[in-house]
Amino acid sequence: MKVCKFGGSSLADATQLNKVIDIVLADPARRIVVVSAPGKRDKGDTKVTDLLIALADAALAGENTDRQFAAVVERYASIADELKLGDDIVSEISRDIKGRLAQCAELSPAEFKDLMKAAGEDNNAKLVAVAFAARGKKARYAGPKETGMILRGEFGDATLDPESYATLSRAFSNFEGIVIYPGFFGYTKEGKVATFPRGGSDITGSILAAAVCADVYENFTDVDSVYPVDPRIVPEVKEGIPTMTYREMRELAYAGFGVFADDAVIPAVRARIPINIRNTNHPGEPGTMIQQSRRVVPGTVVGVASADGFCNIVVEKYLMNREIGFGRRLLQILESERIPYEHMPSGVDSQCIVIKEQYLPKEVERRVVATIKRELEPDFVTVERDLTMLMVVGEGMCYTPGMLAKACLALASAGISMSMVNQGSSEVSFMIAIRKQDRDNAVRALYKAFFG
Ligand code: ASP
Repeated sequence: MKVCKFGGSSLADATQLNKVIDIVLADPARRIVVVSAPGKRDKGDTKVTDLLIALADAALAGENTDRQFAAVVERYASIADELKLGDDIVSEISRDIKGRLAQCAELSPAEFKDLMKAAGEDNNAKLVAVAFAARGKKARYAGPKETGMILRGEFGDATLDPESYATLSRAFSNFEGIVIYPGFFGYTKEGKVATFPRGGSDITGSILAAAVCADVYENFTDVDSVYPVDPRIVPEVKEGIPTMTYREMRELAYAGFGVFADDAVIPAVRARIPINIRNTNHPGEPGTMIQQSRRVVPGTVVGVASADGFCNIVVEKYLMNREIGFGRRLLQILESERIPYEHMPSGVDSQCIVIKEQYLPKEVERRVVATIKRELEPDFVTVERDLTMLMVVGEGMCYTPGMLAKACLALASAGISMSMVNQGSSEVSFMIAIRKQDRDNAVRALYKAFFG
């Protein structure tokens, strides 16, 4: 059995929805179809989820909500009209959203917002089921309530209660035919609607794939595959990545590959379900398969990624290596400020801590540097900002001499200086920090060196 998830751009209008139906019907194994809310039809458009958030905000502010309400219903109505689905489904959606709005006063603002946001996928799943019927094909709507998807944690940032796996698995074993399932939300034990973080339909798909032990989790989006480098930086890249391992995916996602969210696919990864990234607009393309292992050609790289927004705290102290507890006390200072750190490359008498800039605004930097000076009495401490992390990833690098040398040579030939180099013992990737202004040249140089 296959679980497929279609994102908002795959369901933005009637044409896209018909493509989705064609894809599902083309393979009888595609039995569970997770849908997002309708997304953007073009660059200037607004996602239904964002329209719903605007509607919820207006209701919470006690304003007149007619305009925002009409904007939401209109998105569904235009799809229903074009597909000639009849008025009933639009009236049902309109009633549903009114019913949710009526709960504004009874719920906390966070609960109410989640209830409104969830309307996007919930109503879309119902509409998609009706669209299948209009094409003479049976597909049933099933949602988190009926199947027991219980969430916990914060509203808007909920996580799955692991006990749900058993309930979901039982529920799906009773279904026959195609099931259309809304992504992005579930219910708390108390029966309140709660949503995952934004983009959370990926999480729903991944959970269901794990719950039913799917043969594959197909994640349909609007790119043919995952590319070995960002096509905005290297437009000539044509060939996608056919297969990669979960480890490679995680490393590339860490360094900014935006096609998939690494935390969204945790349930599928833990259950060892292969994940296939595919394009709704080119269903003939095999896409990228992400799985536990793959045949690896020694000395090859799967991707070159880059992520901006890093900074580096550099601490130097003569005879640092003999000072017991220095590293622990340094990290303790960050922990007290609730700052997560990314990497810790070191020299004999120097220690760098790479962190994301978002966690070190200027006033926090001042506090952290002052505490380091007071408690550790270093000879020198500074913060380097505007760093970009380059990442070269590939299981094929393991036990292959010269991979890092090749990268260094490529950067040197491009006249780019490196601020830091870091390679973990897994050898599946190495990282090089450079100045942000060198990013595009550096990525091009590395791409040429490893794929040229
Ligand atoms: N519709 C939600 C969002 O825009 C969830 C999703 O599409 O995955 O974030």
